[in-house]
This record gives sequence, structure tokens and C-alpha cells, in this order.
Amino acid sequence: MYSNKTPMERLTPEILINLAMHLDVPSVFQLSLANKHFSKLFSDELLCRQLVERDYGINYKHPDETYAGLLHLLYTGAIRPSRYLSAVPDEVTDAKRAVYRASLAHKETANCDLCKTNPAEYLNMDPADNTLVCSSCAQENKQRYAVLFSLSSEGLYTFMEDGSKHKLGDDSADRNEVHKVKGITESLTSNDTINDLDRRRRAEHQLYIQELRREDMSLKHYLIEKTWGRSWMLFRTREGSPLPGRITNQKLARSNGTLDPNIRLPMDKYRPAPETHADIVSEKLWSYLEKAYGVQGRAYSEDDMQTPEYVRLRVYMDDYKKSIHSYP
Ligand SMILES: [Zn+2]
Repeated sequence: MYSNKTPMERLTPEILINLAMHLDVPSVFQLSLANKHFSKLFSDELLCRQLVERDYGINYKHPDETYAGLLHLLYTGAIRPSRYLSAVPDEVTDAKRAVYRASLAHKETANCDLCKTNPAEYLNMDPADNTLVCSSCAQENKQRYAVLFSLSSEGLYTFMEDGSKHKLGDDSADRNEVHKVKGITESLTSNDTINDLDRRRRAEHQLYIQELRREDMSLKHYLIEKTWGRSWMLFRTREGSPLPGRITNQKLARSNGTLDPNIRLPMDKYRPAPETHADIVSEKLWSYLEKAYGVQGRAYSEDDMQTPEYVRLRVYMDDYKKSIHSYP
């Protein structure tokens, strides 16, 4: 049968789109200008969305924008929305929201998680990491902490190559970036107290389950005072239980503030030990709890058990770490 279509024109739209995915954006634009048939390529939102993400690292847009329109703006250089924002979901995690809330409550005492000396200024917005950092630590690690929420100004920032600070979604930003920043900020700062508490309960129970399954004993382990550990357990497991206050670690201290060497600790990760004074948790869980609840007294870890008077506690800790091997 005779057809006046060229072989290229006889390709199905699916094949054409697949083909276009293997070309760079300038070539796709040239194709679309060359021929009416190909010009339809740019009305395909799925293709444009994939090209926007592949070539510009952007996976978000303003609801009134099309990906075709966005691709054109990016291609012509009219806008340069931050690609770092693509790694931050619109809905922040409940754990991140809890860390943010707590950092507001303990503003004066929250220190940078990295240097431990400067006051915490930013919350990392990576969904899997809730590190609080100061400006100088943020500058030094700008790849790892690409999008930061300022605890004082409530804006999102990124540190540039030259060390300067850039506000995301400000007056110079395009509407796509502005919309994205607004969504993330609202999700972090929204105040839906009842639902939030319930979501936090579930999120923290998940963190606890993760901790139970974690068998990396090379991590540093910390102590959590027992009565606080119990109220946290109630909060996690019983609907309607109140949020515990600050971690009552001062009960593990002697009068000079150092760890009391006479306390009892669990010797087995999976066996309940009611007659003990503290629970043992990995630094992963500790770092969340410390930020989300704050600590009365101070943090105690294996590092506090180095001198001879702590030999007994050291044995508890070693037995605890080895206990994971006695279960199949
Ligand atoms: Zn720091």
C-alpha cells in the first residue's frame, strides 16, 4: 500500500518518544522544528518531564506550568530553578517535623551535630538525614547538606561553591522554585497538633523497629535513662499516651556530672531487663531522640566507660553487643 509518509513519520508515537529520549535536548528541538509530525513531540508531557529531569535535574514545577513549557524555559536559559530541591519531597518526614519542633523548643541549647560547639542554625532537608548544623559546618559540607532550613528565618538555603549563602525561592527565583519552596516549608512548619502527634507516634515506632533490627555493633552506643525509656515506649505503643518530656539522663549521673559506675545495664539486646537503670541504643536512634526531645543532664555513651572504675559497665556493654550472635 502506498503511503506518502517518510519512514520516520511512520514510526509510532511511542517509538518516536523512545527515540527522542536518546537525543539531547537541542537535537529534539531541531527535530521538532524540522517537521510538523515531530513538533508533536513537545506536547508530550511524559517525554518533556523525562527530559527536564534527565538534562536539568528538575523533577518539580508550578501547577500552572507544563513540562513542555518548563523544558523550553530551561533550554533557552530563561530560568534556572535549583536542582537540589529535586531531592527534597514536598511532604517532609514526621521525624524531620519532630526534630524541627524540638529545635524550636530548645533553641538556646541545640548545638550543631557535627562540631558540637556552635549553635545549630540549619536543619538538613535530605529526607533520610535530620542533622542540625551551624553555618561553618554547612559550608564545609555543602554537597552533603545541599538544602538547609534556617531555624531563625524559616527559609530554605543552599551554600554556593564560593561559600556564599543563597536563599531558595526568593524574589529572583522563578515561579516553579518559589512554589516548591513554599510546599516544603509549609509541610515542615504546619501545625496540625492532633494528627501530628499520631503521625509522630507511628514514625517513632518505625524508628524503634529499625533500631531493633539494626545489628551494626561498630556504631557507638548510648544510654537512655530507664523511666524515660518507659514513657517513650508508652508513647510509641499506646494511642492517647502523652509525649514524653526531655530525656532524664541526669538520673544516671553522680553529683559531679560523670556517669554513675554503679548502675545496672542490660546484657542482652533482645531480652527485657526490668532491673536495670538504662537502655542501650545505637547512635542512630540516639541522635534522633536527643534532637527530638532534648536531654536533662548529658549524653552518656561507651566513651564514658573508658577508665578502670567503669570495667563493670564495659562488660555489660560488651555482652550486650555480643548478644546478637546468640540468636539465629
Ligand atoms: Zn558546626
